[in-house]
Amino acid sequence: MLNKKRVLENDGYAMKRIETEVIVIGGGATGAGVLRDLSMRGIKAVLVEKDDIASGTTGRNHGLLHSGARYAVNDMESALECISENRILKRIASNCIEDTGGLFITLPHYDHTYHEKLKNSCRLAGISCDEISVKEALKIEPNLNSAIVSALHVPDGAIDPFRLAIANISDAEERGAGSFTYTRITSVIRENGAVKGVECFDEKTGNAFEIYANIVINASGIWSQHICGLAGVELKMTASKGAVVVIDYRINNKVVNACRIPANGDIIVPNDTVSLIGTTAKNIDYSAIDDPRADDDEIEELLAGGKEMLPIITRARVLRVYAGVRPLIAASGPEAGDGRKISRGIVLLDHEKRDGVSGFITITGGKLMTYRLMAEMAADLACKKLNVNKKCSTHKTPLPGSEKKKYTKYPAKLFSGIANSVVGSTFNRHGSRIARILKRDKRNYRLICECEMVTEGEIEYAIKNFDVRDLEDLKRRTRIGMGPCQGELCAYRSAGLFVQYKGIPPEEANKLLIDFIEERWKGMKPIFWGDAMREAEFIYWIYQGLFGMGKVDSHRGGDNSR
Ligand SMILES: Cc1cc2nc3c(=O)[nH]c(=O)nc-3n(C[C@H](O)[C@H](O)[C@H](O)COP(=O)(O)OP(=O)(O)OC[C@H]3O[C@@H](n4cnc5c(N)ncnc54)[C@H](O)[C@@H]3O)c2cc1C
Repeated sequence: MLNKKRVLENDGYAMKRIETEVIVIGGGATGAGVLRDLSMRGIKAVLVEKDDIASGTTGRNHGLLHSGARYAVNDMESALECISENRILKRIASNCIEDTGGLFITLPHYDHTYHEKLKNSCRLAGISCDEISVKEALKIEPNLNSAIVSALHVPDGAIDPFRLAIANISDAEERGAGSFTYTRITSVIRENGAVKGVECFDEKTGNAFEIYANIVINASGIWSQHICGLAGVELKMTASKGAVVVIDYRINNKVVNACRIPANGDIIVPNDTVSLIGTTAKNIDYSAIDDPRADDDEIEELLAGGKEMLPIITRARVLRVYAGVRPLIAASGPEAGDGRKISRGIVLLDHEKRDGVSGFITITGGKLMTYRLMAEMAADLACKKLNVNKKCSTHKTPLPGSEKKKYTKYPAKLFSGIANSVVGSTFNRHGSRIARILKRDKRNYRLICECEMVTEGEIEYAIKNFDVRDLEDLKRRTRIGMGPCQGELCAYRSAGLFVQYKGIPPEEANKLLIDFIEERWKGMKPIFWGDAMREAEFIYWIYQGLFGMGKVDSHRGGDNSR
């Protein structure tokens, strides 16, 4: 593995230049998947991410493990990709997935012919799509609108994008790959027309360095237009924003979809302890992709759509909202203006063939669902160019933690003295690696986040093993602060553990804490009403009234992520 410390110390610029075989730009699911695929084929690779892993669109979607049914009527290619990857991911990423199943429900005012169309299209795509009675649907999903007239059951599920991306990176690193987070690509190095490497800037230390490689793979999602621009090639993306509303507890067991042509607010995905209502499609200016925000009209539309399917939402507390931007290639012709109509298809660009620029590949488009397939396609092309004759095996080899099938019994006797629910939650997040985290030690078992049942042992493990720099990074790796209280109590406890396990001074931990609260605040601000307002007042009272946090300077402005 690369010695990052030596690279970044940069004293006398001794290690200013790194050499490898392939550079991967972007630490979303796609880039993480590419890094893993390459390292499994024995190719030396380094990933560079300007923020944290899964902080782009990968961490801003609603985590639906599509069965393909949503696309079956209008986009057969996407539907086929989805069902094939759905089956693979359930095998190789079981601890990132909850195999909930999904329902397509028809309400009285929907176009009832869509139900048959969906059934037929699913049959053509090989997606199981079973008619169940209204009574049965209401039995398995009691919060459904009782006015539904029909229901179909499909193999949808829920996928945790943070866990997925981090598992891919960890696996790649264990095989010798390197990754740099908070490191921005500032320029693509070209010599005689060919791409030779990248210039990087470490946002945390202020150091610059260069990486040289035979091939650079651009897996930067919606930022692909910008990265292509740095390499001197033209690529036009359509910035289609989608917003998601988080409900404060899990109101559905299965993914609930409206059985009609895809529209805004027609999916509700159960996600660990909460439920997510998605999504919208609103074109924004490309210059706004770094800080997408959910607008009031989107929030209203999502809540209205959600309430129609699950009326219990009327009584639930809205926890927060966030938005992401789909990595869609701009379509020419009549579909250019509507993000929802542009195919979610995968786009692999060999810039040697397309633009006469060798050593440069772009992989974009697609979905979270298809990240592995996209990685396989990009790695196949890279192998061809490097004359490496190794086949992809990511479809067969489970990710770390997913070696055993989910819900295989964890060895409960190993964890005596700790509640089953805590062991279950930890097992959910770390799968077969649980024994590395929950060791027989009372301190290790202490609960830090009651909403998500995160123990001190899990936080210690994450800080020491997963390149965690702040509380936001810790949230993405453990789910602290993602549950119903939004970090009210776990945030200051976790900041304290940073002092203990990362060895930072207490003043630094205070700053991490204020950044985290600021960040959570931004996702809550747009929904300040009713119980959400009361909860926010309570958080304010603790952190400002009791701790006087307003007097501490913060590190950064934060954003409005999940
Ligand atoms: C609201 C919404 C809901 C969605 N729901 C679903 C769903 O339920 N299921 C599904 O399958 N798909 C869903 N999608 C689509 C899915 O989220 C994306 O297709 C997928 O996450 C894209 O992953 P990626 O790795 O290609 O891009 P990203 O996750 O965006 O990763 C690109 C990375 O590149 C980094 N980067 C950019 N510029 C630089 C630079 N200069 N230097 C270094 N790094 C850089 C970025 O910081 C970013 O982390 C949804 C999308 C949206 C917007």
